[in-house]
Amino acid sequence: MEPSTSTRKRFTVNDFEIGRPLGRGKFGRVYLARLKENNFIVALKVLFKSEIEKGGLEHQLRREVEIQAHLQHPNILRLYNYFYDDTRMYLILEYAPGGELYKELQRNQQLDQERTATIIEELSDALSYCHENKVIHRDIKPENILLGLRGEVKISDFGWSVHTLSLRRKTICGTLDYLPPEMIEQKPYNETVDLWCIGVLCYELLVGKPPFESSTSSETYRRIRKLLPMT
Ligand code: AMP
Repeated sequence: MEPSTSTRKRFTVNDFEIGRPLGRGKFGRVYLARLKENNFIVALKVLFKSEIEKGGLEHQLRREVEIQAHLQHPNILRLYNYFYDDTRMYLILEYAPGGELYKELQRNQQLDQERTATIIEELSDALSYCHENKVIHRDIKPENILLGLRGEVKISDFGWSVHTLSLRRKTICGTLDYLPPEMIEQKPYNETVDLWCIGVLCYELLVGKPPFESSTSSETYRRIRKLLPMT
């Protein structure tokens, strides 16, 4: 299942038994699937080429696939391989049976200190590994953290990630509540933007809402710039 470029095995959708839908994203659907050859369970993400082209996302998707395929860490969702047919692109992903951290937070409203500490430790370990490999995630938030069988962190969605060597360092991306001041002010930034997001996430897990949340986006921007969390 390794994605190494030249020797990569070419899969087709007929190599899989497709199971229940696991979820739906902006551009595709994700299904539980089993590789017929060895019963290996995976999550198969199906994207329509037409929608990717319509959204002008070819470049972003290629970058996401290339980056995620090369990262191997227990707290980063593996991208094993990919293939495509005339209309669709398929990503073969590690299955995260615990679902989204976002849903765990919604169910419990806030998490206790012990659970939060474990999540933050696993997340920090995974992000250190990314940074050692010159990758910045840039979009850490509860929706992008999936959970393994024992509730362990599996960072997913490298759609906004970037290799520092090719960094267009002023690109604004990510989610409003998690945006670091230097990105809002369109200043050059580096991998420390992910550290800011660890802090915001830690706050949201313990308190139940992100620190700079406000009724309008301009107020959120203002609070972030002035470092004024809600009290
Ligand atoms: P996405 O398009 O990546 O946002 O995925 C849509 C939804 O499918 C997510 O919000 C998850 O609930 C679910 N999902 C995506 N990937 C996986 C996975 N590898 N394992 C389990 N569920 C997943």
